[in-house]
Amino acid sequence: MTDRKIIPVSHPVLAGNEKRYVLECLETGWISSIGRFISLFEDAFARYCEVPHAIACNNGTTALHLALAGLGTGPGDEVIVPTLTYVATANAVRYCGAQPVFADSEPCTMAIDPARIEERITPRTKGIVVVHLYGHPADMDPILEIARKHGLFVVEDAAEAHGALYRGRKVGSLGNVATFSFYGNKIVTTGEGGMLTTSDPDLSRRIRILRGQGMDPQRRYWFPVVGYNYRMTNIAAAIGLAQMEQIDGFVEKRLEIACHYRRMLESLADFIDLPGEQPWARHAFWSYVVVLRESVRLGRDELMKRLEGDAIETRPVFHCMHVLPPYREPEAHYPVADRISNRGISLPMHGLLTEEDVSYIAERLGYWCQHAGV
Ligand SMILES: *Cc1c(COP(=O)(O)O)cnc(C)c1O
Repeated sequence: MTDRKIIPVSHPVLAGNEKRYVLECLETGWISSIGRFISLFEDAFARYCEVPHAIACNNGTTALHLALAGLGTGPGDEVIVPTLTYVATANAVRYCGAQPVFADSEPCTMAIDPARIEERITPRTKGIVVVHLYGHPADMDPILEIARKHGLFVVEDAAEAHGALYRGRKVGSLGNVATFSFYGNKIVTTGEGGMLTTSDPDLSRRIRILRGQGMDPQRRYWFPVVGYNYRMTNIAAAIGLAQMEQIDGFVEKRLEIACHYRRMLESLADFIDLPGEQPWARHAFWSYVVVLRESVRLGRDELMKRLEGDAIETRPVFHCMHVLPPYREPEAHYPVADRISNRGISLPMHGLLTEEDVSYIAERLGYWCQHAGV
């Protein structure tokens, strides 16, 4: 054990106008889901993603539910999702009464493998949810081509990828609709919060109606459809607006940290696979995920324990959906996703991390890889 201060895996940066804007909410009484910060945040987010419409909601999971419901997903439908994702992606499909159908990942991006999508399409398939996992964009062009050919929708789950680029374009502007999360550990945070972005005005209108209990925008207290209360508070939006003023710096800082990790870890290529980055991508590095090779004799969880002893907090990669009780497929085989899930570690990545922290983490990780088993 060391007496170093623990290096957290993630930490919010709230160094801009967050406090000032939140105080304005408290002082004016606009603390609920009406107030000027909601539309200011939505407009700033739409501008950032280069789309005409952004709709704020109360978290990234309800954003996914609104996206799928707005696209008409219902009982009897199937939606293709990567098995390697955070559980919210699959759950949102279930909330609509539809069935998530899993596909394997691609080793470089860790996102859904376009080559594994068509074999999962059936007459009931309604759409595809791609996840820009850990901040690397999915390979959208072949996915959009498959969707066009089969008449499917494409939702981007961009909860982990604020600021990532696909062929120079912002994620959030690539599919029919995209969803973002502003949970405390995400690249932009509002504590809890979510956002949808789309270029489709009709879809945007339907999503706004569903977000506000299904109320007819022209007729108060008239509810033509069953909707939800998934509204964001003005307080959360106040934090969000302040965060958007800093987003370029947030993304820049993550790229610098990733660069430093790469320089420090390159010599460990026999032991770990570093995060891939396609030439057409700008990774947003929500997390810095390394995958342990078979040459590392310590198990993944054991290695994480050793790092914890060195005051370095880490996270395992998500469990695949096909191993979780609600979605279990005992016979299924998703070799790429399984390997990343079983051998991947998220290293600390956040705006307060210093170069010295990164060097220390790399040095300890190298030590445990090379001294594994002793
Ligand atoms: C965080 C996350 C979500 C859900 O967002 P919440 O705001 O926590 O509801 C959905 N999908 C992915 C990939 C995420 O990482």
